[in-house]
Amino acid sequence: MNRYWTLAQRPPPPWPGPGTFRLVEAPIPTPAAGQALTRTIYVSLDPYQWGYKRRGVEPEGAPCHARSVAQVVESRIEGLAAGDFLFCTNGWAEYGLMGEGVARPGYMVPRKLDPAVGRISHAVGVLGMLGLTAYAGMILQGDPKPGETVVVSAASGGVGQIAGQLARQRGARVVGIAGRPEKCAYVTGELGFDACVSHLSPTLPEDLKAACPDGVDVYFENVGGAVFEAVLPLFRPGARMTICGLIAHYGDAPDANAGEREAEAARARGVTVRNLFVGDYVESHHDAFLAEVAPLVASGQVRYREDIREGLETIPAAFAEMLKGGNFGKMLVRVGEDPTL
Ligand code: NDP
Repeated sequence: MNRYWTLAQRPPPPWPGPGTFRLVEAPIPTPAAGQALTRTIYVSLDPYQWGYKRRGVEPEGAPCHARSVAQVVESRIEGLAAGDFLFCTNGWAEYGLMGEGVARPGYMVPRKLDPAVGRISHAVGVLGMLGLTAYAGMILQGDPKPGETVVVSAASGGVGQIAGQLARQRGARVVGIAGRPEKCAYVTGELGFDACVSHLSPTLPEDLKAACPDGVDVYFENVGGAVFEAVLPLFRPGARMTICGLIAHYGDAPDANAGEREAEAARARGVTVRNLFVGDYVESHHDAFLAEVAPLVASGQVRYREDIREGLETIPAAFAEMLKGGNFGKMLVRVGEDPTL
């Protein structure tokens, strides 16, 4: 049997809790001509998945959407064989079909993975959409110059840790904003950021000002809310801000436009504001990004931390935790054996 999670509460509450998701059992699907059956190894948990549910993107009863790393069990697709590893979108499920006629919200064209290039779990992280997000937002949009001050929020998370390190590679002075003390210690210690302040501190605005004595040239926004308010007065003339995500607002009513309000406030101070949608960069920049970042990861010049939970059953709790800072690194759930380990 196949097992998968589906959304049980419609419309969903502002934030997920017990009872928000339901575990469903169904027969393992059989691949038709032009399709392949894959078994999921890693389920990627990402904040945007909550937006899908809040906006009602997924059909009722369908497996919750997620990017995944999977292995082919049975293939009726030429060039794809049992045992091959894939980046695909199986969702919060143990098995999934790919290929002809398998289209659902968020479906992405599967890509074969070569375990020699990097860990297969990295395909949903630093060597996949998260890495490209950091690259596009920091390098292509923010364009930090040597000596400039760059601030990255959610700095120890999947995107933040990569974005900050890429800015350091360009010679910028990088300040992270993160939650718990051990996250801040990781950001300055392991990742080599120049400073990190905690948004849990009651003196966040003062702490950030002290960490950025010359002001802020580039802000990579992952959070919004009080964190954005602390950055706002520090922008220097010529500053750039990339709005990558606003996780503090993901429990707002779906039509509340926190991003537009934030962009207006920053523009009123002369900041150049850009919104980021990683999908816009896949065709144009995925190869250039991989060529630049994969060697940095392989050589250890870019560090990358994953928070891997075990078992399909843990997904709803892990997901809810991640939205509130319970993850430490990019959040994944291993739902099947990884034979490359
Ligand atoms: P993370 O691994 O960074 O996990 C989310 C983190 O957000 C938490 O660990 C927590 O870190 C922080 N956080 C949550 N709530 C708050 C809050 N109220 N105040 C401050 N920090 C908070 O997730 P990702 O790296 O996957 O995603 C980061 C951002 O990038 C998200 O907003 C996401 O939606 C966005 N994104 C956007 C894309 C695009 O195309 N624009 C593509 C991919 C991601 P801490 O404990 O440090 O507070």
